[in-house]
Amino acid sequence: MSIKSIEHVFKVHFSSTAILSEKVDVVISGGGMVGASMACALAQNEMYRNKKVVLLEAASDKGEFILPEAYSNRTCSLSPATVKLFESLGAWDEIKNMRYQPVKRMQVWESCSDALITFNNEDLCDNLAYIVENDVILGAIMKRLKATGDNVDIKFNTKATNYRFPGEKDENDHKESLVSLELSNGQTLQTNLLIGADGFQSSIRKKANFHTIHTDYKQCAVVATLQLAETFDNTVAWQRFLKTGPIALLPLGPNLSSMVWSTTAENARNLKQIPEDSFVDAVNDALWHDRDKNPVVSSVFNSFTDALNNILPGSLLSKQLPPTVIGVQEKSRASFPLSLTHSSNYVKSRVALIGDAAHRIHPLAGQGVNLGFGDVACLNELLTNCAKHGGDPGSLTHLLDYETERQRQIIPVMVTIDGLQCLYSTTLTPIVLLRSLGLHTVHSLDIIKNQIIKQASS
Ligand SMILES: Cc1cc2nc3c(=O)[nH]c(=O)nc-3n(C[C@H](O)[C@H](O)[C@H](O)COP(=O)(O)OP(=O)(O)OC[C@H]3O[C@@H](n4cnc5c(N)ncnc54)[C@H](O)[C@@H]3O)c2cc1C
Repeated sequence: MSIKSIEHVFKVHFSSTAILSEKVDVVISGGGMVGASMACALAQNEMYRNKKVVLLEAASDKGEFILPEAYSNRTCSLSPATVKLFESLGAWDEIKNMRYQPVKRMQVWESCSDALITFNNEDLCDNLAYIVENDVILGAIMKRLKATGDNVDIKFNTKATNYRFPGEKDENDHKESLVSLELSNGQTLQTNLLIGADGFQSSIRKKANFHTIHTDYKQCAVVATLQLAETFDNTVAWQRFLKTGPIALLPLGPNLSSMVWSTTAENARNLKQIPEDSFVDAVNDALWHDRDKNPVVSSVFNSFTDALNNILPGSLLSKQLPPTVIGVQEKSRASFPLSLTHSSNYVKSRVALIGDAAHRIHPLAGQGVNLGFGDVACLNELLTNCAKHGGDPGSLTHLLDYETERQRQIIPVMVTIDGLQCLYSTTLTPIVLLRSLGLHTVHSLDIIKNQIIKQASS
């Protein structure tokens, strides 16, 4: 043990027994994609080279990630802004050495009308997004963290079992000024800043009494890895809104796509149990069937598109047909309950929440973890500035800047996604008509579409 760390070790009373307590600068609780990225950012941060950071992860160390032949059923659509963060951490090169699939075009359409919207990157130099397996993302980040993180102590199989936040008294009536953590391995830590990256059921958010808004969508997302009929340049992401929720096919490779089908809990259970051929039929039916079409909406919609084409020539629909699915990878079907969870605040004195611990949204826009990576970039920048000025990383002044900046970005995204989820859960004719006309109008106006792409990329 170095002299510096011996200096940091002193005796305190936590619970009723005297145990060793270590003083560290930052503790990150949760080593998922977001928490591990935060640790990786601090590992490579010049201003944190001589500071002590601890990463707590409840799960065990999976060791070096070896890319399996079979694709995982858990994938994320990563935005260009996330790729930029990963490039700065050296993790994007690791991902490129494993596997990823660019998205060059997106088509979103619905089952109740002919309305659709497409996005493509013809006029943009970047791809719209990149589909990467969650295991590949975490494997890449962990590799970079272990290679560069001399200042980061990763404790696997470890979580905090007891917390004392600033202002709370210990059993000796001593008021806490830092955050004290009692760990499952018996150790105690005192830290200037505790970063909660422990997922949507965050125990830090609960223990620190953050006020939280929660909406159960009463939907589950069924995921699976699908085999497509043709081998081709598979770079289109497809999403069709059905009466019961959206189904999305995200490209993985020449004849493979990753499916995320948000549907009722009952249908999700059924989709997981039915034989493979019935499942494949159900997926093709969801992508192709016409039985929800509303004749009133169709007639008004056709007149509207003709009229709009007179004003904006070339605005007629350029619908592409989705791929045909011919198989599902064995044991790749799984489901996840969906909810919106939002912490009204992301910070308190000496505590900051990042990733799903602060905000969990519907996966229909593929933005959830991208927002979490945005938190990492923002918090890292503010902590750097704070360290440059000799400030205390847990001081509320800096942390409030983080909260303001992130909520300015996240709340509009969250409200839009929640609104879309509501808008597409109804089959009421006037609403279907309005949303169809609105979608087609947006589809016809490149200026608005480019704005949407810009927003989703940042
Ligand atoms: C079906 C589906 C599809 C999705 N698709 C996309 C997509 O395309 N694009 C996108 O951006 N997002 C997507 N998301 C969202 C994305 O998966 C989440 O936003 C992301 O996983 C959140 O990462 P996180 O690191 O914040 O939390 P988590 O992934 O939940 O990680 C939390 C970590 O903390 C650990 N932990 C928990 N409690 C403790 C504790 N007390 N102490 C120590 N460690 C603890 C856990 O073991 C875990 O490793 C999707 C979500 C779903 C359900």
